[in-house]
Amino acid sequence: MQSKKIHPWILVAMAASAIFTFYAQAQAPDGKVHVWFLDVGQGDAIFIETPSGQQILVDGGPDNSVVQELGKVMPFWDKTIDLVVMTHPDADHLNGLPEVLKRYEVESVLETGVECSTSQCESWRGLIKEKGIEKYIAKFGQTIDMGDGVQLFVFNPIESKEGESVSKKNNTSVVIKVVYGEQSLLLTGDIEGRVESKLVLAGLDINSDFLKIAHHGSKTSSTREFLDAVSPAIAFISAGTKNRYGHPTQEVLNRLENDDIKYYRTDLSGTIELTLDNNNYSINFIK
Ligand SMILES: [Zn+2]
Repeated sequence: MQSKKIHPWILVAMAASAIFTFYAQAQAPDGKVHVWFLDVGQGDAIFIETPSGQQILVDGGPDNSVVQELGKVMPFWDKTIDLVVMTHPDADHLNGLPEVLKRYEVESVLETGVECSTSQCESWRGLIKEKGIEKYIAKFGQTIDMGDGVQLFVFNPIESKEGESVSKKNNTSVVIKVVYGEQSLLLTGDIEGRVESKLVLAGLDINSDFLKIAHHGSKTSSTREFLDAVSPAIAFISAGTKNRYGHPTQEVLNRLENDDIKYYRTDLSGTIELTLDNNNYSINFIK
């Protein structure tokens, strides 16, 4: 990962215009970690910015709306993303990503390499090759150092899925724990109870302050055992307003409420911003 440099003309433009300067300060790196659970409807797209401005996008939602949502939280001059993670090639995670690869200069990508044959998946893999983007295959035990004390730990897939043909891909999802100092966030893709249980039994350090609820709040995920092991203070649910799956399910909301886990939902709040600042955090909503 290389650190980003602001093109000199931007600095000139910022100095020349008070409006530009204000706008830039609102979104430029500010020494904190920002995580945006982007409102992309029924799907996942999570954008992370490190204290010095390294950027990671985890999934791209079901359509190109991710580009518009990124435009709301990225500085307007910023056309680069350091790392794009594709947790699994289901449409609600993958379909917005080819457009991201077209619009942004993406440094590297991380995915499982599981076999997929949709046109969007072909487009994603074709663009990675065409643009010479560095591609990493997600493996259990990987650590990615983003600098500034931000580290990503890959917990799933436990066994490599590269080149494998898998009919139901939820459980192949890349699971990542983001650690920043004392604070941590667990990103779970669409894993279901079976893999949640494996992660618990593996004795991994999945305990996290913040949890992205797996599979949009489906009742087949977020088992009590898993929630107890992660033991988050706050959970985030990414789901579309009045989606046809009934996500998030009342069962999962009940489990969260019974465990006193506060939760936020993109279907109700739109894009949600989590800011980590040393040992403090704050939550904001982006319209
Ligand atoms: Zn999904």
